[in-house]
Amino acid sequence: MNTINPATLEGKKVLIRVDFNLPLSKELKITDDSRMIAALPTIKKIIKNKAKAIIISHLGRPNSDFEKKFSLENVVLHLSNLLKTRVKFSKECIGDEAYSSVESMSNGEVLVLENLRFHPEEKKGDQNFAKKLAALGDVYINDAFGVAHRDHASTSIIAQFFPKNKYLGPLFMQEIRALEKALKKPQRPFTAIIGGSKVSGKIDVIKSLLKNVDHIIIGGGMAYTFIKAMGGEVGRSLVENDKLKLAKQLIDDAKKRGVDFLLPTDSINANDLSAPRNINKSNIFSINNEYMGLDIGEASITKFSKIIASSKTLIWNGPMGVFEVEKFEFGTKKIAEAICLATKNGAFSLVGGGDSVAAIKKFGLEKNISYISTGGGAMLEYIEGKNLPAISAILD
Ligand code: AMP
Repeated sequence: MNTINPATLEGKKVLIRVDFNLPLSKELKITDDSRMIAALPTIKKIIKNKAKAIIISHLGRPNSDFEKKFSLENVVLHLSNLLKTRVKFSKECIGDEAYSSVESMSNGEVLVLENLRFHPEEKKGDQNFAKKLAALGDVYINDAFGVAHRDHASTSIIAQFFPKNKYLGPLFMQEIRALEKALKKPQRPFTAIIGGSKVSGKIDVIKSLLKNVDHIIIGGGMAYTFIKAMGGEVGRSLVENDKLKLAKQLIDDAKKRGVDFLLPTDSINANDLSAPRNINKSNIFSINNEYMGLDIGEASITKFSKIIASSKTLIWNGPMGVFEVEKFEFGTKKIAEAICLATKNGAFSLVGGGDSVAAIKKFGLEKNISYISTGGGAMLEYIEGKNLPAISAILD
């Protein structure tokens, strides 16, 4: 694999695609800087070797034009504080202003260019836009694993303009190593815990995991589609009726492969999510018509925790319930704790996906997980065995 030799970078203009898509409050304050923290070692390495670090990224989902709340200027001061060095900012990511900002850089300086997604060409993977961006640097490093599954101008198209000087960055490589550790030769038993809202978004990942894992634990909203497919009565729970046949097939496939397919046995239900006055517990196969299942129950927690405790490799994506609401966070919290305990006892644990990572952070458990991925969709696609455009662009 192409690895950078930092010693060769002195005086070079290094274009680094990072993932600074940080959540901001209404007051435009950063509420979680983990992605920036994760990118720091790469930036530090570049400037320590007297190269010029030109940072490119997207932030949020602007309507392809300038919007203050999506400006990368909002994160520049924080980056400067973390790096303990001055960070310059260019209000444009291409064109004259970007060019002159780059040209005025001294060795070892850091410059952040404005949000790439203020140009619709970024998401369209426009060649011309990619070429203009590429013209700003001598070397291209992609360290944005979170968008590795996107065929965007700055994540894949741009690489062709650096035939001899394109690299996957250290953070990107670290993500791949963590995934490989779990997926290639995993220590067994290997357990995947998959939750979240819908089955439809995770069909391919479940199919792929079934070829590899010993146990698969299903929780969250998607569990109710499986339960209904098995003849259960799930009231008003989230169900994808067009996926019932597929859910049944996945269960049968697991059986054929000898994979232990674990579904919740009990459920915490409410009549209403926004104002849950009436909450009850029931067997997950017999939820009252008026109620919807919003968390896994105690019996499921005990059953899942036992399997997790006996596992040596764990992958987790997707919460076990509506963890954002305090009344329905218990299942997700207990499963997160079980994963942390298994990790303490020697298991390798990998957690990815915005909501599972948010849950881990909500419970203050991030230090007790072996590896927290900065990628949600990218991580799922990697597990599915898909070619990620960002990787092909560098390695092909
Ligand atoms: P995903 O993006 O597919 O991983 O789904 C994450 C979302 O699933 C979170 O916002 C949870 O609130 C939601 N979720 C988890 N369990 C349930 C459930 N039983 N019913 C409805 N939504 C759920």
